[in-house]
Amino acid sequence: MRLCSVCDREGRGFLYSHPGHPDRLHRFCSMGCLDAGARLAKENNGMIDKTAREVQALKDARRPFAEALTELGLMDPFFHRTAAEIDRLIEAAVTGYVDSMQRRAGVRERTGTALDDPLPF
Ligand SMILES: [Zn+2]
Repeated sequence: MRLCSVCDREGRGFLYSHPGHPDRLHRFCSMGCLDAGARLAKENNGMIDKTAREVQALKDARRPFAEALTELGLMDPFFHRTAAEIDRLIEAAVTGYVDSMQRRAGVRERTGTALDDPLPF
């Protein structure tokens, strides 16, 4: 299975191929990721580097994480933790979520019924 070049969700039928570089083919999950990814690829000779965006995405996730902690009344134990510790928690949740999504996309569970038969289209 190929993942979205922007967000690591399951890649769907949204593709970008960099002119003159057939090896630099990117798959995306949505039109939004296609638009963003195609722009990044055009700016970087067909390459999409995730590292800087991953760091920024972790930073951007701190606020909604803090909001959820506050809403649940859990902010006190987290208030004096370092940004690196908070990022570690966010990354653990995101990694677990993405890994599960990827596993489930790659493995179809068998139910032992007619539902296991491939669809006729
Ligand atoms: Zn995506």
